[in-house]
Amino acid sequence: MSYTSPESEPPQQRRTRRGPLVVALAALVPGVLIGWLAYEAVGAGGAEPADAATSPSPSVHASASAGADGAAAAPLKGKVVVIDPGHNPDNFRHTAEINRQVDIGSGHKECDTTGTSTDDGYAEAKFTLDVTHRLRTLLERQGVTVRLTHDDKGPDWGPCVTERAEIGNKAHADAAISIHADGAPVGDRGFHVILPGTVHAGGADTRPIVGPSRDLGKSVAGSFLRVTGEPPSNYIGHGTALDTRTDLGGLNLSTVPKVFIECGNMRDTKDAALLTSGTWRQKAAQGISEGIVSFLRGSRSAG
Ligand code: ZN
Repeated sequence: MSYTSPESEPPQQRRTRRGPLVVALAALVPGVLIGWLAYEAVGAGGAEPADAATSPSPSVHASASAGADGAAAAPLKGKVVVIDPGHNPDNFRHTAEINRQVDIGSGHKECDTTGTSTDDGYAEAKFTLDVTHRLRTLLERQGVTVRLTHDDKGPDWGPCVTERAEIGNKAHADAAISIHADGAPVGDRGFHVILPGTVHAGGADTRPIVGPSRDLGKSVAGSFLRVTGEPPSNYIGHGTALDTRTDLGGLNLSTVPKVFIECGNMRDTKDAALLTSGTWRQKAAQGISEGIVSFLRGSRSAG
């Protein structure tokens, strides 16, 4: 399975092929930027369409990019997003490997964990891969280059949380997100987004990413709430759907804006009914996608 967008043709080839249009294309670049700014101005006024992530690009893009093929269909071309499907369905077969302690800056933690499951046995690791695949499709439609930290065809355990962070760093991701569902007591329900707190210890220095990660997290939380209707967690975050942590290696070791999302509580009956529904998982992916897209476009207060 390809990790790159179908629109991955290098711009240089496109320009070479078009020859005389090189100058025209160069002149269009500011126009596209102005189009984005105009779109952002509309969005900031609260009029951003709910289906922004999946609908054809707004006409402001089309007018700005006429002749620059691909720009209208791929407004976020050049942006890189790393999606980290939490855990791995086969981790439980490799307890020795995943229990190995790794350095996360603020201390040491297991390389990886098995994750939770619903009472009926639907594994969190299957859920995270499914939402990841749906999210990848939605982001690629926007022209985003998407990389995954692992996939069904990857190694049969892990990777370690250190490597999950490193993949985002090496990709110079504009945004990274780790997909999860929680395993809290029955009656605890709702979603929350986990933001990196300030950690400056060992190999970890989150100071440069705390601010942008917060912007990313607020944007994702706002869109997730709007698209899924899932309530903010009633057990973490005091109704804000936001939580800040300094004990997660995947955040501590990131040098790019990154958040985790706990989409719901797999152990709660109501949440489990949603998490096991493909229709709902598509909404979850769409909510996350819209939040990331909004962040990538420069929105600073979507949530
Ligand atoms: Zn998890």
